[in-house]
Amino acid sequence: KNADNAMYAAKAAGRNCWRFYEAAMLKDAYEKLVLTNNLRHALERGEFSLQYQPQISLVSEKVIGFEALLRWNSQEHGSISPAKFIPLAEQSGLILTIGEWVFGEACRFARKLANFGQHHLHVAVNVSPRQLADADFVSMVRNHIEESNIQPAQLEVEITENVLIESLDDSTRKLEALKELGVTLSLDDFGTGYSSLTYLRNLPVITLKIDKTFIDKILEDKVQEGFIRSIIDMAHVLGLHVVAEGVESEQQLSKLKQFECDCVQGYVFSRPLPELSALDFAVR
Ligand code: C2E
Ligand code: MG
Ligand code: MG
Repeated sequence: KNADNAMYAAKAAGRNCWRFYEAAMLKDAYEKLVLTNNLRHALERGEFSLQYQPQISLVSEKVIGFEALLRWNSQEHGSISPAKFIPLAEQSGLILTIGEWVFGEACRFARKLANFGQHHLHVAVNVSPRQLADADFVSMVRNHIEESNIQPAQLEVEITENVLIESLDDSTRKLEALKELGVTLSLDDFGTGYSSLTYLRNLPVITLKIDKTFIDKILEDKVQEGFIRSIIDMAHVLGLHVVAEGVESEQQLSKLKQFECDCVQGYVFSRPLPELSALDFAVR
């Protein structure tokens, strides 16, 4: 068992290397096991909620949509970051039921926005590889759109490049089907993965989200600046809309305006908000 844990640690460190067993590894594996077990009951216990972070157009300075972000407040462990529990939900397959719940909630929120006359605002939902690989993914999304009686264009799906690694053809086919439905598609965390231009050209995405790690460095030097400016220009050449993620300061904001970035999501405008505050933000 200890050797097994050492093997997992070696795999996690990027494979093709070795690790000696250490007691901390067992603790780590045990913690994950306990968290995963709690995750199994989180839905029925009503421990999940969604928060919505506004996305602001730099042209109109108005909100154009929201990203739905999952929150887990566990009875036992308190509030746990998605960075920690989403991978566990992926590995255990629980992401399928949790992800479906997220779609249901997000569509309900989109319905409320429409009721307030804000049907032009989209709600973006993050989708992980296991979800897209599921045979029923497209019909699941369609059902939620129909049940909540929203326009498909009110829903946006966010994927990262790693959803494509497993099965490019299958993923592309499903993403095309979503586009047919009228759902829009955005590519999240751009710059952290392969940043493949081939993927970008072949996928039915309309929005590119530049990852926060780049935005963090935008004020560092001319090279970083040029890099971000080039990503924005390239996206525009491809006819894509650009969202900068994790923008925290006015200085970052003014650089992004100068580089003609289309839209911004970050603490500089708003943190992710509970549903009521998000509705308030939309109609204010
Ligand atoms: P993401 O999709 O890239 O979401 C953006 C993350 O950046 C969010 O973290 C958001 O709270 C954070 N953020 C936004 N603006 C700022 C800023 O100005 N400063 C800082 N420091 N952070 C900012 P969060 O909510 O912790 O989510 C982390 C990741 O978990 C998400 O990254 C997404 O990949 C995943 N995730 C969240 N909800 C879901 C979900 O419902 N399903 C799936 N499959 N993944 C999800
Ligand atoms: Mg996202
Ligand atoms: Mg992101």
